[in-house]
Amino acid sequence: SKKFAGKVALVTGGGSGIGLSTCLKLAEQGAHVLIVDLDLAAAQNAQDLISKQNGEATAIQCNIANGKQVNDVVAQIQQNYNVDILINNAGIAHVGNIENTSEDDLDRLYNVNIKGVYNFMSALIPLMKERKNGVILNLASVASSVGIADRFAYSMTKGAVLTMTYSVAKDYINDGIRCNCIAPGRVHTPFVDNFLEKNYPDNKAQMFENLSKSQPIGRMGKVEEISALIVYLCSDEAAFITGSNFPIDGGFVTL
Ligand code: NAD
Repeated sequence: SKKFAGKVALVTGGGSGIGLSTCLKLAEQGAHVLIVDLDLAAAQNAQDLISKQNGEATAIQCNIANGKQVNDVVAQIQQNYNVDILINNAGIAHVGNIENTSEDDLDRLYNVNIKGVYNFMSALIPLMKERKNGVILNLASVASSVGIADRFAYSMTKGAVLTMTYSVAKDYINDGIRCNCIAPGRVHTPFVDNFLEKNYPDNKAQMFENLSKSQPIGRMGKVEEISALIVYLCSDEAAFITGSNFPIDGGFVTL
């Protein structure tokens, strides 16, 4: 039988990369997936892929940084679905040390990476609490605990994702809500390809190779490796796991 039969899962940033892979796996296991993305075409593409596999999904356009939009989306969803699983996956990066990070850059990363996670948790936790049932999984990063060179604002905002996760886990442990996060190292997603295309159009392949070799394990992670952990942590098999952070980084932090 399917692990997520009868469950409803909301995935932010579900149109691309780790989020897309997570949506596909959840749908395969019987969940109805609410694919939330700023990029409607990407969300619709994910919905089409799931429909082709006879899964159930709904594409929803929403800017997670906008609290009003998030509340409106949640009110709309609430008419048809109870969200059992919230995966705060959408996030953005900024390359630069503190000198190359303007106040606008900082605000942009704060609004998406921190406030976006806050917006969906604060809209859905009261509903989960009422039903004494909910799972929240947040996308932190290796940057959350040890920082990444030349990623000042990204590291700072991902640090907050880790501590928000701990706070929420503690505050709602008696309300049937579990909250965890994962800390991926470098994962091969469209983000990496676009970055190389933009910054190294002439030696993309070499830079890809360099990036891979610079990981302790000698390669980047695959989206399927990350989504497998996410899906496990959101399943009932992980019922004893809350308030935890899971590195998944090919040895980046410790080796
Ligand atoms: P991605 O760039 O491939 O996809 C992110 C998706 O989020 C896109 O579809 C984008 O449209 C959407 N999005 C961006 N801003 C949004 C907003 N304001 N509202 C709604 N949707 C928005 O990303 P990815 O590489 O799969 O990363 C997913 C998450 O994992 C991010 O939080 C990222 O920080 C984290 N992470 C990624 C890596 C990596 O190496 N790729 C490593 C560690 C952590």
